[in-house]
Amino acid sequence: MLYFVPKLVLMNRQALEYPMGSRLMKCLQKEGIQIRLFDKKVPVISRGSFTKDFFFAKQTMVVTVWRRREFQTCRPSAHYQLPLVSGCPGICEYCYLNTNLGRRPFIKVYVNLEEIFARAEQYIKERKPELTLFEGAATSDPVAVERWTGSLQKAIEYFARFEEARFRFVTKFIDIDSLLGVEHKGHTEIRFSINCDYVVERFEKLVPSNRERLEAARKVMEAGYPTGFLIGPIMIFDRWREEYGKLFEMLKEYMPRDTSLTFELITHRFTPRAKTIIRQVYPRTEVPLDESKRKFKFGQFGYGKYIYMDDDMTELKDYFSSQITRVFPKAKILYFV
Ligand code: SF4
Repeated sequence: MLYFVPKLVLMNRQALEYPMGSRLMKCLQKEGIQIRLFDKKVPVISRGSFTKDFFFAKQTMVVTVWRRREFQTCRPSAHYQLPLVSGCPGICEYCYLNTNLGRRPFIKVYVNLEEIFARAEQYIKERKPELTLFEGAATSDPVAVERWTGSLQKAIEYFARFEEARFRFVTKFIDIDSLLGVEHKGHTEIRFSINCDYVVERFEKLVPSNRERLEAARKVMEAGYPTGFLIGPIMIFDRWREEYGKLFEMLKEYMPRDTSLTFELITHRFTPRAKTIIRQVYPRTEVPLDESKRKFKFGQFGYGKYIYMDDDMTELKDYFSSQITRVFPKAKILYFV
């Protein structure tokens, strides 16, 4: 999938009062996409079972207004989440969104960008002269819907104005051509989420291949964007070293050795809620979900998760650090979790 084409759009009537909402309405109508208007709450449309509801929601875009007053924090990748989009049309069995979005993982896009940017500016002013980092993909893959929203382009242009702010987002999608000519002043970092082919082929559906992501990464690097890779979820399985070794060889083909890339390394983890959802939606899944091989740890949002045991974590950390240093001596590892 290059970009997401929804089967159904649920449009909040208030969203039509914003330029992006009314523009989207016209585009969607022109494409012949089915639209249902709603007033306050997103209507519950039941397809009869948890699994059917889940996949139906994955094909549904909700266009609405962001109404919270505060941004959520976003450790370790940034200070705050920038609420442009939530949800993702990709079908990755291990997806971290399973915990938060549950039975109806709609792809929600917010139309009141001016209000969202105004709130961001308050945070920037409060933290000045410290740099403030905003993450655009904390609960979504915003590139999948960029063709409809244009939100990333606007955010990139917006953050180019501030010396004290940086914007970053991560994606598995490759529809990035509209971003290549945007004035970014180096204030936006684009990262691509990649994994070894063993993980991509078993667990990721409706998302571009590793090679397509690497091709897109090369394009954004050539457009002068700070560029990085998020490797995750890093999984332990038979021959994991060999498989991840192949990923580093592939990286070498696409990115010059002396590039100042960033790397974020996220080991596989799951919450009890995610496990229940994964088992329900993908009954034959091979995602490793055995608690006895894991250690339980409390996270920043108040719920716990199962991470790898300490010895496994140390082994993974050593392996990935040495591979990255070997292949890209100028790269920076931002975190390993
Ligand atoms: Fe989840 Fe990312 Fe896959 Fe989308 S691309 S389903 S956000 S893991």
